[in-house]
Formats: sequence, structure tokens, C-alpha cells
Amino acid sequence: MKPAWPEQTQDTHEHDYISVIVSNLKKHKRMKIKEAQKLVDKWINSTGIRYFNELTNMAILTEEVGEVARIISRTYGEQSFKESDKEKNLEDEFADVLFVLICLANQTGVDLTEAFKRNLEKKNIRDVDRHRDNPKLKK
Ligand SMILES: [Mg+2]
Repeated sequence: MKPAWPEQTQDTHEHDYISVIVSNLKKHKRMKIKEAQKLVDKWINSTGIRYFNELTNMAILTEEVGEVARIISRTYGEQSFKESDKEKNLEDEFADVLFVLICLANQTGVDLTEAFKRNLEKKNIRDVDRHRDNPKLKK
């Protein structure tokens, strides 16, 4: 199997190179968080031209989370779908949230792999008894 991230030659247009990576990653079926951060950065700096500033991306993140909430409330909650909502796709909206979250991580210098590992470790220590002892979670 070809490596997901082949060598980039100088005459390869950035957008074409990104297409090759995306195609290879589809075959690999998995992507490391670090690769996702790198791919988003490559895409932003070529196709997207540059990052929106942090405040703009924060607003976009909020907007995308709202799109997820809209689908969840109509699928699992008591809201009903309007005709215009029916084209919406939960997994695509999750991906929109992830994309802009990665943008914010990249532009604020956060390594999401390390941050996520530390966060899980913190939860594992802090919450070791918390949920087990929560009577509201008893079946
Ligand atoms: Mg969206």
C-alpha cells in the first residue's frame, strides 16, 4: 500500500498533492490526529489561502455546533424536521465541527494528540469514582 503522505515534488501543485493524500487516506481507512492537523494546515494554506482569524473561527465553530444540535434535536429530541433540514447529514456536520476545531488548534499551537492524551489521563484520574458513585447513572 502506498504511504498516505508521499514525497511532495516541487512541480506538484499543492491542491493536487492534497488530493493524493486524501485519496491515499481513504484507502488507509485511518488517519492520525496529527495527520489531520497537518492536512487541514496544508489545505488552509493552499486552497483556503489563509486561516480565518481565531475569533472568526470561534464563531464558525459555534455555528457548526449549532448545526449538529439542530439535527440531534430533530432526530432524538422533540423538534420536527423542516423540508430544508432533510438534506442535513449528522456525520458531515460532525466533520465540520472537527475541521474548524483543528483550525483553531493549529492556529493556537495546540497538538491535539498530546492534548487529548493528557485530557483522557486527567479524566481517568479525576473521575475514577465520580461516575460509578453517581446514583443518577444507576440502571
Ligand atoms: Mg456545517
